[in-house]
Amino acid sequence: MESVTGDNSGYGFMIDPVFSRKETIGGEIPWASAAAWREGQLSLTRTIAASRAELNAAAALAGRIIHRYDLAGDLFDELADVTCETCRRPCCLDAKVWLDFKDLLLIHLSGREPPPAQLRGDWWGRCRYLTSNGCALPRTSRPWVCTWYICPDQRRSIARRLPGAPARLARWWSEIASWREQMENAFILAVHRPTGRFAAPRFDPKGLQS
Ligand code: SF4
Ligand code: SF4
Repeated sequence: MESVTGDNSGYGFMIDPVFSRKETIGGEIPWASAAAWREGQLSLTRTIAASRAELNAAAALAGRIIHRYDLAGDLFDELADVTCETCRRPCCLDAKVWLDFKDLLLIHLSGREPPPAQLRGDWWGRCRYLTSNGCALPRTSRPWVCTWYICPDQRRSIARRLPGAPARLARWWSEIASWREQMENAFILAVHRPTGRFAAPRFDPKGLQS
């Protein structure tokens, strides 16, 4: 699946900052060019519009994921105020991450506007949404890995300030990971199954890759 959907498994936040060889982590960044990005968003928008009725299950899972993001968001904003403002080496400077297929599916199925471009056009630059005030994207439009990653300083801060939170977060993270998987499966099943009444255009994930 990785070569088709560009699954973003999170190693980008943990690698050596001087890392620069794409073959070390494998695969191309999906929809890295402006043209591939535009085509990918258009294809998803049209596929979802043509299969709306069949996508109820996938859309319901997207709603659940957004709800969990909302629950965790306040905690993370609070943590960022404590840890990130004084951070000497913000993780986003070195993160080799991107929006993968599940991220885009969540954005589209929940009716959100996708960002204007993929996070990066190549492996060497920085994320285009990193600003001097932090991330320019709302949490629900960032790659899941950007929320999923909790640095050691934040781990310590959570454990100190909110003793029950690590277990709760671990549970939420595992639920979100499972719902993302289910959402993608429900989407693929829905758009590949002719309904008899109306056959939605066949969706070909390979057509979305740059
Ligand atoms: S999450 Fe951790 S490493 Fe990243 S900017 Fe905040 S304090 Fe720094
Ligand atoms: S999208 Fe935001 S959180 Fe993720 S790497 Fe870019 S700046 Fe950092």
